[in-house]
Formats: sequence, C-alpha cells, structure tokens
Amino acid sequence: MRITEMHITPIALGDPPLLNAAGLHAPYALRTVVELVTDNGLTGLAEVPGSVAVDALLEQSRAVVLGSDPLNWHALKVKLGQHFKPEDSLARGQAPWDQRKVVQLFSAMDVACLDIAGKAFGVPVATLLGGIVRERVPYSAYLFYKYEGAGGELAFGTDPNATGWAAARQAAALDPEGIVAQAQAMVREFGFQSIKLKGGVFEPAQEVAALKALRSAFGPDVPIRHDPNALWSVETSIKWGRELEGVLEYFEDPTRGQEGMAAVRKEVKLPLATNMCTTSFAELPGSVRHGSEDIILTDHHYWGGLRASMELAAFCRTFDKGVSMHSNNHAGISLAAMTHLGAAMPNLTYALDTHYPWQWEEIIVGGRMPIEDGCVALPKGPGLGVELDRPALERAHQNYLRCGLTERDDEPEMQKKVPGWKFQATRW
Ligand SMILES: [Mg+2]
Repeated sequence: MRITEMHITPIALGDPPLLNAAGLHAPYALRTVVELVTDNGLTGLAEVPGSVAVDALLEQSRAVVLGSDPLNWHALKVKLGQHFKPEDSLARGQAPWDQRKVVQLFSAMDVACLDIAGKAFGVPVATLLGGIVRERVPYSAYLFYKYEGAGGELAFGTDPNATGWAAARQAAALDPEGIVAQAQAMVREFGFQSIKLKGGVFEPAQEVAALKALRSAFGPDVPIRHDPNALWSVETSIKWGRELEGVLEYFEDPTRGQEGMAAVRKEVKLPLATNMCTTSFAELPGSVRHGSEDIILTDHHYWGGLRASMELAAFCRTFDKGVSMHSNNHAGISLAAMTHLGAAMPNLTYALDTHYPWQWEEIIVGGRMPIEDGCVALPKGPGLGVELDRPALERAHQNYLRCGLTERDDEPEMQKKVPGWKFQATRW
C-alpha cells in the first residue's frame, strides 16, 4: 500500500474569551486537518493544533510522505527524521501551550497512518495500540475564568435565547461564585466526575478561594485539579500548595522547570503533574534525576503521535509515575484519537482533559460527539471511526480565511481588555 495524496486544510472554530496565563483566547481557535489517501482508496485523518508554520512544515513533508507505506510507521518515521530534525526543549516556549512544530508533523502522520491501518484491517485504532482496555473513556470538566461572550460569529455578543450549558458557556466567570456556577452547568450537561480549573490568571489567593469553593460545592468525592501554568514561583507554589493539600487530586505545573517542580514536590503533600517541565523523550532522564513530577500529561499532538504516547505510558509504568492527558482546543478527529488512546492505555488512571465542551461547531459526520456521564464512548467502525463532513470542513476553512489569524497568540486579545498587558513567565 502506498500513500498517493496528502491534503492539508487549516480551519478556525469559534472559541469563547477564555482567560489563561498567556492572556485571552481569540474568538477563533485554529486547527489543521490532514488527510492521507492511499493507492487502494483508503483515507486516513489527523488533526493538529496548526499554524501557518506547521502548515508549511506539513507541506514540506509531502515529498517524503507520498509513496510511503502507511503500514510501516518505523520506515516513515526514519525518513521524516532525516528531513526534520527534532526541536530541543527550549522550542516549547514559556506559554501554556507547546510551540514546537516538528512533533505535530509526526503526530499527524502517525494518527493518519493508524486510521488507514485500522480501515485496512477492519479494526479500531485502539486495537492497533495494543487492545481495548475500556470502551468508555472518562474526561474531566475543564473550567476557565472567562469574560462574557461565546466567540466565533458570536464574538461580540451573546445569544439571549441560550439555555443550560450554552448559556453558561457564554457567561462571565471571574470569581469563585462564577467558577462554581460554570462547574455546576458543565457537570449537569456532561456528567463529568472530575474537575480542572485553568489557573495562572488571578493572584493565587483568588484561585485558591475558587478551588475551595469547588470543594465545598462538590464534596470530597469529586477530584479537583489546578493548573497555574508555571506562573507561580517556587515559594508561592509551596505556600499556596500547602493550602491545597486535601483539596486537589493533583497540582499541575505550579512552577517552571524540573528543578523548580522538584523543590515544590519536596515541600507540598500533593501529587504534581506536568505538561510543561517534562514534554519530550529527551527530558525523561531529567525527570527521573530530579524527581520533578508524579504524573506526566501526555498529548499525542506534542509527543509525536499515539504510538509515542503509548511509549511514554510504558516509561511512566516503569518509573511508577501516573499518566493523564493534556488538551488544547480541538475538534472531533482529535477527540476520537484521544479516546482511542484512552481506551488502549492500561495505566491511564485519571480522567483526560478536553476543551471540547467550549466549542459548538464540528467537522465530522454526525456533528458533536456526545459526552455522557463524563465519558466519550469509543467510536464505532474501523480506524478512528470518524469521517469528514465536507461542507462543515469547508465552512470551517472559510472561517479560517476570513478571521485572518495565522497562529495562536493570546496577548493581543488580552490587551483589548487590559491595555498594556504583557505575558510574564513568573507572575506571582
Ligand atoms: Mg497544563
């Protein structure tokens, strides 16, 4: 079997004004959809965070990918590795989201080839990853401080007729009461059984008050996580981390770097998790040497694919670390890929992160994938089990062309609300 066509389609999906350590989400979140087509008529799909730079890299890979056998990932990976040198850990950058590009290329090819292989053999991708250990994959409620508004076409207003979660999604949430109300609406709609608050937005006392309010509202049996995206110093992390002992399931990237995380981990009786200080295979020896975290959050877009995430899981099992999963904004192709990974990973003992409830558009046939009792059911059918809705993909592509965004940058949006606002790697 040979890959004969490759299609790269950047899209933009409406995104609410969510606050985070790097500023404020723009009204649209960018993604890039990749399709590989084989000489026997099979199609493999993948979705990556995307940007003009990633799209250019994907375009450059065309000469390597076309003619390759989608069933021999090792051979394709070697060829890609000869053309595209891995980026070092500094390329990740200091923002909450990973700014590396080559890993996204590897991820796109890995996922699309697995989708093709699943269709060729008539089995789900999770089967190809070693077998299905759970048919329903749990996700957590991902809370954000936010300004009023819904993003996308509704960027400058709200739908006055919205009810339920649709109304809560466009409401402002800036204090503990707002966060609890957001959590209650999200849990009511999707049945999530664990909660994560995206932090690094307000000063620690305000965020800790919100976490304690969530604990009071939901009781001791609902796990709660907090992620200040490394904006706190070691001293601040220790001081406020102690306040959160007994409140949190895990404390995600309170501070920056493996040594900083290790210093906090020695002083605070909470499991520490990361998608910022240990983000690549090259950083795993440092993780062991420093003892920087208890849980590594995989993300197949940034670890180089689903098979690489399974390798990470094996490392975590060997070194007695937990595995959980990080998320950026995404559509259904990525949700399907994440769900196959969650279905196949034996030691994925935490609910996965997902931004999915914050979006309302979709590019796959059948529309939005349901989240019930906090879980996404493994899609039916071979491969990823999702197909492109061509008119919806075209609409999302037209949104991309119209919105004028070429990469994620949350600082300009924030400056519209707070003139002169600047990102700081350590704020408190
Ligand atoms: Mg994180």
